[in-house]
Amino acid sequence: MRHQPVGFLRERNILSVRSFMLLFLSCIFNLGFPGTPSSLKTLPLDGHLCFDKIHHAARDFGNRYQFLPLAVLHPKSVSDVATTIKHIWQMGPSSELTVAARGHAHSLQGQAQAHRGVVINMESFSGMKMQVYIGKHPYVDVYGGELWINILHESLKYGLAPKSWTDYLHLTVGGTLSNAGISGQAFRHGPQISNVHQLEVVTGKGEVVNCSEKQNADLFYGVLGGLGQFGIITRARISLEPAPKMEIENLLSQLSYISSTLFVSEVSYVEFLDRVHVSEIKLRSKGLWEVPHPWLNLLVPRSKIHNFAEEVFGNILRDTSNGPVLVYPVNKSKWNNRTSVVLPDEDIFYLVAFLSSAVPSSSGTDGLEHILIQNKRILDFCEAAHLGVKQYLPHYTTQKEWRAHFGPRWEVFVQRKSAYDPLAILSPGHQIFQKAISIL
Ligand SMILES: Cc1cc2nc3c(=O)[nH]c(=O)nc-3n(C[C@H](O)[C@H](O)[C@H](O)COP(=O)(O)OP(=O)(O)OC[C@H]3O[C@@H](n4cnc5c(N)ncnc54)[C@H](O)[C@@H]3O)c2cc1C
Repeated sequence: MRHQPVGFLRERNILSVRSFMLLFLSCIFNLGFPGTPSSLKTLPLDGHLCFDKIHHAARDFGNRYQFLPLAVLHPKSVSDVATTIKHIWQMGPSSELTVAARGHAHSLQGQAQAHRGVVINMESFSGMKMQVYIGKHPYVDVYGGELWINILHESLKYGLAPKSWTDYLHLTVGGTLSNAGISGQAFRHGPQISNVHQLEVVTGKGEVVNCSEKQNADLFYGVLGGLGQFGIITRARISLEPAPKMEIENLLSQLSYISSTLFVSEVSYVEFLDRVHVSEIKLRSKGLWEVPHPWLNLLVPRSKIHNFAEEVFGNILRDTSNGPVLVYPVNKSKWNNRTSVVLPDEDIFYLVAFLSSAVPSSSGTDGLEHILIQNKRILDFCEAAHLGVKQYLPHYTTQKEWRAHFGPRWEVFVQRKSAYDPLAILSPGHQIFQKAISIL
């Protein structure tokens, strides 16, 4: 058996005739060969692995990609996560098993899925005890599978709240920190990844590592915005502030705006933050939530936003609308450039989010095919016009595209993969790296 030092590169896949025969025999006779369920079944766990009720783990919010796993782990402790990953790591490159953390599965293209791998149901941690620390610099310690809505309710008991949000709070801490976590507060406080003090991470070798700006900083920054590639976030320490009071008059007095464009709707702080959930309930009742979501999220440099708007809104999308489009500016100075997130090369850029829903089996302008073609036209235009646009919640299917996405940051990303998940066990759904199989 031979370990490939950087065994995750696609071109290094080696599956010899001998290994094929071994795999074949083990399948027929269930010999307990590494990689079969039987070797997982003996793991000492506080929670459990499930081999039959697994179909839900092949679905996500995008409703377009379905990869059936081999098993779903329902962990009851951090050591369950570590034990499972360590076991798969110790199998070496002879096993094709991969591992995906599944938060609330609100990914769009199978990012939290693992084809014939193990999906870790991080929500098994949801509802486990959170610890709020009050004082001059308040914070809350939470599990990686905790939902942001639960953190809001818990911290409000102390008059506190996290500083930076997403528009929708029924997402897990691990899921949003793997991307960035942005919304209307990001221009002031930065994304959610700028408001985390410390993480506990299980690496692709099954090691449990605490990391922060001062301790194992490379892993800390790598994991933030790292698309789940370097480790599974099992705990996070999130910065809090006194929960804002309603001060609309005060805020408006500082703004320069055309008064006839002002739209005010008075709601409580929780109602404001949890606003998308209200829409979710309505859409669910009409059967319109679990439809395909061909979303496209772009980060557009400020200097190019007019060119972008002219072509995209003035031409490509002139006659159609399949869902809300969000546009807001973001301030790069609030982001830490050591994280794994890829941003445009300018100090100010805009999030432009096309949050489309497709009508199932429609072949019209509200159908999936049509929306995907429009998305491609937008992406093609951005590339042809050299706008320096980057995808947020990026989706690519080849390593060449991923390299282009990361640009000069690709090297660091690969180095981190090699250090923390050298067999490419983690987060296969992004299709950045592929686990090498090399039984000789
Ligand atoms: C209705 C809706 C509204 C949204 N609004 C916003 C918004 O305003 N701002 C914004 O930034 N994003 C937004 N998103 C996108 C959202 O942040 C991402 O899709 C996020 O990944 C979803 O979190 P999740 O818990 O469902 O993660 P999943 O979909 O379960 O996982 C996403 C990725 O993270 C990995 N992952 C999950 N948990 C962990 C963990 N504990 N450790 C390491 N990796 C992990 C997964 O393997 C996968 O690669 C929205 C999505 C939806 C569906």
